[in-house]
Formats: sequence, C-alpha cells, structure tokens
Amino acid sequence: MRLALRPFALCSLAILAAANAAVALAACSDSSSTCPETTSAAVVANDIYGQSLPADTLALTFDDGPGPRTEELADFLTAKGIKATFFMVGKNAANYPALLAKLKANGHLVANHTQNHNDLTTVVNGANGPANVVNELTLNDNILAANVDQNHFLFRAPYFAYNANVYAAIHASPMDKYVGPVRADIGTFTSYPNGASPNPEVPANAVTAADWDCWQTGQRPGDKTTWTTQQCVNIYLKEIRAQRRGIILMHDIWDGTIAPSSPQSNTIDLVKALVPVLQAENFKFVRADEVPDIAAYFPKPPVDAGVDAARDAGPDASDAGLDAARDAALDGASDAAADATVSDAGPADAAADATVAADASPPTDGGTFVPDAGESNPGPKPADAGCK
Ligand SMILES: [Zn+2]
Repeated sequence: MRLALRPFALCSLAILAAANAAVALAACSDSSSTCPETTSAAVVANDIYGQSLPADTLALTFDDGPGPRTEELADFLTAKGIKATFFMVGKNAANYPALLAKLKANGHLVANHTQNHNDLTTVVNGANGPANVVNELTLNDNILAANVDQNHFLFRAPYFAYNANVYAAIHASPMDKYVGPVRADIGTFTSYPNGASPNPEVPANAVTAADWDCWQTGQRPGDKTTWTTQQCVNIYLKEIRAQRRGIILMHDIWDGTIAPSSPQSNTIDLVKALVPVLQAENFKFVRADEVPDIAAYFPKPPVDAGVDAARDAGPDASDAGLDAARDAALDGASDAAADATVSDAGPADAAADATVAADASPPTDGGTFVPDAGESNPGPKPADAGCK
C-alpha cells in the first residue's frame, strides 16, 4: 500500500508548494508528475464502490425517499453520532423542504437519485433520450441543491442502471457536477451459500440480503413470507462482518409502485436494531462523500488555508503538527509525514474511474419493481490504476 501511494507523495509536495492554488491538485501540472488528471467533481463512466474505505468503516446510504419515517431515521442516526447519505427521488423530496434543511444542518448528505426513479438506460433510448436523462437529474437538482452539504453533489442511478450512453448524456451537461454513479457493496441482493437454491422459508440460511427483499413477498423465487426485522438484521450483520467495509444500500421508503399493502419503511426498524450492534463492534460510519474513491473528486481547499486558519485561531502550538508534517515532507525525510500528506491529497484511485470503459451490462428489471438491486452479480469493481 505504501509503495502504491508513493507517487502521490510527490504530488503532495507540489500541492504544498502551491500555497494559493484554487484547486489543490491543479498544482500537479508538471508533465513528469504522476498525479491524477481528473480532480474536479464529475460523473464518471463506471460505478464507484466503497472498497477504498478503511477496514471496519461503513457508509450508510438510503434510497428512494424521503418518506414519512425519514426524519425519524435521521434523528436516530444523529443521536448515534452517525452521518448518512440520502439518495432522494426528487418527486418525493419536493414534499419535505423543511426536512432537507434539517438533514443538512445535522450533517447528513442529500443526494440525487433522479426525479422520477426511471431506468435511465431505457430513458436514454427514447425520443430526446439524452435530454430526458439530463432532465431527470436537473429536476431533482433544482429541489435538492440548496441543501447539499458543501456542494458535494452525489448521484446514484435508479436500479443501478447505467451505461455509456447515460454517462455521455450527463457528462455533456451541467449535471456533470455530480460525482457518481455511487454503487453499493453491501445489502444489494439476497444470496445463499455456494449458490444454493434460494430457500426463503429459511432466511437464516441467507448470507446476504437486500432490505426490500426482506419485507416484500414475491421478490425471491418461491417466496411466500416476509422476514422479520431481526431476521433481516442477522443477515445484514453476517454480510457486514464478512466484508468489514463498504457502502451499504437501504431504502427509507418504497417507491410508489409498491402496493400500499406492502410493509412500509421496515428498514428504519432494521437500522435501529443493527446500528447499536455494529457500534459495539467498533464499526465506524461515514458519509458516501467520505469514501476515498469518491472524496478524491471533490476539490480540496488550499492546504495553506487550513494552516492559516489554525494559526489565526489559536496559539502556535495548534499548527505545530501541520508545519512539522509539511517540513518533513518537503525534506523527504519522513515516510510517515509523506504518507500524511498523501491522505491530504486524496486516495490513489482518484482518476481511475474516469478512464475505465463503461459498463455495458446494466442490471435488468424483469418487470417487477426491484429497488436498485435487481442483479445477483454486482459487476466489475472499478480498476485501481494508482496515480496515473
Ligand atoms: Zn432507487
């Protein structure tokens, strides 16, 4: 890992020397540099996963809301010291303007899950397809943008459905300010050991689960039952303990296409039971924009601005560590300090996704509403191309 990060240490030195760079990584213009070429927020060609998170670190994401229990969910998480990411459907978000502001005030991140939750790979093939794809993001953006914390605009495609044509449409529009599509690592589908035939009557046998799949009958082959909250908790725990890191997919509301008689918002109860167990096991929670492979796309403030702010705010001792790290890095004398500056500059995967070929095989929705997770194969993970 250290070897992989070494090129970034060189990049960081350039950043540190550029005291007033508007965008820190813009300092990496030396043709001999191995710094990322893409450092600004922009939609990318392939899904971004959460595998760059440190061990025992999770990013809770909630799709398709907000709904009647979203505030209750957010309040619970806030009380637990957790900041989460809410990929909202615009037509739902329009009904909760006060909630949007409250989420931002409490440090949660609201994000774009399109206006109407249509499959964009279908939309893009229709009349005026590319324009309609862009419109799906723009209408949502008009509702959410004022309450997106730090202007960290994140996008997740409904059903994870995404391809080169959708990418091209968004990339050529003002909606290219969005970073994404943000995929998920955990909670995306229900599976059983060794590919065994699903046995929904014995949920304890499952090794992974998707929240919507727990609550709704008919979503699993031969399914006749709705699982209990604790059964779903147990399977989420099983997957999280096995994976140790990643972006978790859940839903704080069902899409309106779900029959009204279906259980609603059971996931809030799932979270309330799951989170205390995970915190007792020392799992940490971050927002999706803190996933290193995602954070890398957001411009950082100039390094010296932070140093100056610390200096202005307190005694010299407050910035002693920053100065020491900078001096050591500039001298090239300390691996530890160099690595510290690497973390300032962002992860090594920053530009990799922008150059990876588009995923030409989006999940299919077999005619049944399947929130976001209609495939058993999550597809290729983004390539790690290092700092080149
Ligand atoms: Zn969705």
